[in-house]
Amino acid sequence: MDRFKDIGEFGFIDRIAAHAQRNRVLCGIGDDCAVMAAGQERVRLVTVDAMVEGIHFVPQAPPEGVGYKLLAASLSDVAAMGGKPTDAVVAVSASGDCDAGYVERIYNGLFACADRFDVAVVGGDTTRTSGALVLSLTLTGEMARDQVCYRSGAQVGDAVYVSGTLGDAAGGLGVILGDVDLPGKVRTALLQRHYRPEPRLDLGQALAETGAVTAMIDVSDGLASDLSHICQQSGVSAVIRAAAIPMSRAFIKFCEVSGKEKLDLALTGGEDFELLFSVSQTQVNKVEALAYSICRIGEIVASDGSVMIEGEDGKRVPLEQLGYDHFGGG
Ligand SMILES: [Mg+2]
Repeated sequence: MDRFKDIGEFGFIDRIAAHAQRNRVLCGIGDDCAVMAAGQERVRLVTVDAMVEGIHFVPQAPPEGVGYKLLAASLSDVAAMGGKPTDAVVAVSASGDCDAGYVERIYNGLFACADRFDVAVVGGDTTRTSGALVLSLTLTGEMARDQVCYRSGAQVGDAVYVSGTLGDAAGGLGVILGDVDLPGKVRTALLQRHYRPEPRLDLGQALAETGAVTAMIDVSDGLASDLSHICQQSGVSAVIRAAAIPMSRAFIKFCEVSGKEKLDLALTGGEDFELLFSVSQTQVNKVEALAYSICRIGEIVASDGSVMIEGEDGKRVPLEQLGYDHFGGG
């Protein structure tokens, strides 16, 4: 018997991926969204996210934040293809003792996010479970077929960019779980990034329209892990510069007070839902001309799919697979 905790999330996905390809499926398992042809010039996008009480959110979490984040995480996957979100369906599994008012507040958060990003929640399912509360959301999106940004197109020599700042969501989790003595403003900023992540939909669509992006993914498991997905699927490696990793003042303060190593946490924390993408050298002006907060952090190089980090002394060290594997294996 192969147990999930032995083969890991990604080991399991490898086993089922071979069965998922069909004719009109342009991309099945293995990207931020599945991509299906919708006529000659358009595609339909589909993605699903699940959250389990006790695993993805703590019972004391503000329910509105849990609902908001459930949709925001899927919106970020649509953003990572360069697409526009359309409709969502939601499945909830709750025990008979679960407080219906709590679940209603989860939906209130979800609807707030849906209104903000013009998504219609068009249905779902409610079932009973013997244990923890489980939420699952499926989101569809659409876009032009020739603008889809897959993970697999990075080329040697491309520049690597990331949007926003990294580590803030992990800092927010640290605030929730730990006894960290921080100024109120810092706590609020980090909690906001944890429960109300900002899916970069406008940026994703603007990047896709430039035609300059060769590969894109959202930072959900942590930059180290997500960049290695781009590298492995593109057959290249990447070098990122430690000094170039963008961090907020709130995050740096959190690391000072909690004693966390800030570079480690920024690269592995996950759930920042920023966009990570590669751009051909001749096209960098096009993306740098966009009015968004993006930061050039490294380059794509020829090698075996690994990610290396370059310190200020110029030394390159391989980054192991440090991000979040849902079963701790792989
Ligand atoms: Mg993703």
